Amino acid sequence: MKRLLTLVTLLAVALTSALSAAEPLRVYIRSGPKSHGPGQHDHPRFLADWVPLLNSRGAVASGGNTFPTAAQLAATDVLVIHAQDGGNITGDDRTNLEAYLARGGGIVVIHAAAVSKDTDWYKSIIGGSWRQGTTRWLEAPMHLYFTDRYHAITRDASNWQMDDEIYYDMDLSPDAHVRAAALSLEFDDNLPSQKAHAVPALTARGFKATFYVNPAKYGFTTDPFWQKTVPALGHDYGVHTLNHRADPATVADDLAECARLLRQLRPSAVTSPLLAFARPGGKGAWPVSREAERALLQQNQLRSRDENLLMYTGQPFSELTAWTDALLRSGGERKICFHGVGGDYITVDLAVFTPFLDYLATRREQLWIAPHLAVHKYSTEFATARVEATLVSPAQIEVSLNSATDPVLYDQPLTLRTRVPAGLTRCTIHQLGQPAMCAVVDGLACYDAVPGNGVVILERF
Ligand SMILES: [Zn+2]
Repeated sequence: MKRLLTLVTLLAVALTSALSAAEPLRVYIRSGPKSHGPGQHDHPRFLADWVPLLNSRGAVASGGNTFPTAAQLAATDVLVIHAQDGGNITGDDRTNLEAYLARGGGIVVIHAAAVSKDTDWYKSIIGGSWRQGTTRWLEAPMHLYFTDRYHAITRDASNWQMDDEIYYDMDLSPDAHVRAAALSLEFDDNLPSQKAHAVPALTARGFKATFYVNPAKYGFTTDPFWQKTVPALGHDYGVHTLNHRADPATVADDLAECARLLRQLRPSAVTSPLLAFARPGGKGAWPVSREAERALLQQNQLRSRDENLLMYTGQPFSELTAWTDALLRSGGERKICFHGVGGDYITVDLAVFTPFLDYLATRREQLWIAPHLAVHKYSTEFATARVEATLVSPAQIEVSLNSATDPVLYDQPLTLRTRVPAGLTRCTIHQLGQPAMCAVVDGLACYDAVPGNGVVILERF
């Protein structure tokens, strides 16, 4: 499953076709009369404040108290709706809006604009809607806690508190969340028990993991299992020093040699030199300052697995599932690291490990389980990804996907969803190499593409 963040990608498709090049973003604010008590639902004030604010920041913003005309929509990249019952859009307005969305126009809906009499239709275009009898509201102090720090809109946002009104129990599309979750399974020290128990259990469930290995230990360089089988199964290797111990005098050579050995073992299709890195633990094993470590990682094109890591130290099954459930609620990326699996040291009992993998297998649809480096590449590319339709004709759509990341290092395909002409049920995707077939569901083609690798062409199958 490579569909991490698909909805976000869709949003990016909508927004970024307008954000390309040096053209200023054209924003139209659909406002309306003030409808509630002092300080509440103050749509006119929002219009008065935000038009000059956006214009002073480089956008071309305008707005009004009526729904934009076809001509106004034609000159708009992002439509912001902040009006009472803003989702009651009918007749010509709806026709114009649908044409606008079909060409990739973006839409931002604020508060009461999430309300529509035609809940199902509105939900289908904005991803969720107020539903009469189900959705409720609360006016109270709100503590906003941002769970997704990857999405362009919420990246690096701080949590804050405010006294405001919130809608809850909205009717949301199942895929309408920007808080995609990813979990990476990690195994340290290439231990015999990982060969005996972990790899077969991962293989049985189709999971791909990262093994942080010490090539000088446990016969790594001579054992065909580590040399051939594990890479052929699609697992990734990470640098963990040659011997699980660094000497300050030789650490640079140690890492370079470890990285060289591991790069040799990757499938020939993998051309990015980037490798994952985990510093060895234990007393005196890593006498390197953080500053020196940063330089070493940079020099050797290594990516540390430090952040969001849970080290397994004997937690019961219930704790592992609770931790995973929390990840599913919060979104983001986390890793869990094991040492011994049914043997060796810091051991996870098979009576915990096996049911945990079974539990993860039941969460596949919500959770992207992939090696750390794949997740890291995806989120890094995604953070600056720009999608633009460069040519749209009845027979063909050309899409260009770019990112600020270096395409040599960052070669993970992103999942894109592109709206295609009505009546098209299948299309062929071309991006370098072999053409791939792609199903169209609800007018959207869903496919993988690597940023910075030339245009993607979608054509009728
Ligand atoms: Zn270790």
